[in-house]
Amino acid sequence: MIVRVLGSAAGGGVPQWNCACANCRTARAGQGPRRTQSSFAVSGNGERWWLVNVSPDVAVQIEACEALQPREGRGTPIAGMLLTDANVDHVGGLAVLRQAGDHAFTLYSSGTVRRLVAGDRAFAAFNQSPHRWIALGAGETVDLGERLRATVVPVPGMTPGYAGREMLADAVVAYEVEDGNTGARVLFAPVFSAWSQALGAAVERCGLAFADGSFWSDDELAGVGVAKAARALGHLPAAGPFGSFRALRELAPATRIYYAHLNNTNPLLDPGSGPALEIERVGIGVAYDGLEIDF
Ligand SMILES: [Zn+2]
Ligand SMILES: [Zn+2]
Repeated sequence: MIVRVLGSAAGGGVPQWNCACANCRTARAGQGPRRTQSSFAVSGNGERWWLVNVSPDVAVQIEACEALQPREGRGTPIAGMLLTDANVDHVGGLAVLRQAGDHAFTLYSSGTVRRLVAGDRAFAAFNQSPHRWIALGAGETVDLGERLRATVVPVPGMTPGYAGREMLADAVVAYEVEDGNTGARVLFAPVFSAWSQALGAAVERCGLAFADGSFWSDDELAGVGVAKAARALGHLPAAGPFGSFRALRELAPATRIYYAHLNNTNPLLDPGSGPALEIERVGIGVAYDGLEIDF
């Protein structure tokens, strides 16, 4: 199984067009890596790929990854998508992929995500022939071909701002992808609003896991004058007594763990910061665009 991080940033990316925080300034000055919005690609054979979330940066991400580029004429090696939630930074790239023509994508998501996104007329075409959009329930497993199977792991979460930030059981999910030949398992959990036993068990089962690293602290956005707490935006911060780091540090390095979906305000983006050194000490990494793991 090949896993590639196409984009490692939360909504807005790094730098974000309207942000002059320290991390955005560093990236803008070329003194730190630029990061596109969160998305992953996974493949059993390197020929046929599944995207986990489709960011508005998907065209740039495809151009940065030869394996995702068309081989001849019109076409794509992308078989379909696994969507974790209905946030615009995770589904907005469907607008970019609308020239699919005869190519049939298979989309998987929760019922709530399909209702919210396919219910939008701009995206409704992905819920019609030649495409298929299949709603999955918690714990359901689907065959992705090339020996890969994906299982839905429910995680605490809420609908996006445009849908009222409602706490629904299937507003957000994670996916565990297993290689049937090798038994290797990877967890994609770029969004969750609280820790849960199911989430911890999934990280423990998997050899590789990507976790929501949007925010280090709950009040981080105050630093750029935004009066919104991380939790109110549907993201469990890493730090603090109930933060994800406290749970994840017990599971690393037995599971190879990366924080993904990093907001540009997150001090983890500065490799010299206290938080970055703290996670490094227990063997947890920070995902970056182009990180590829043959697993
Ligand atoms: Zn996001
Ligand atoms: Zn910024």
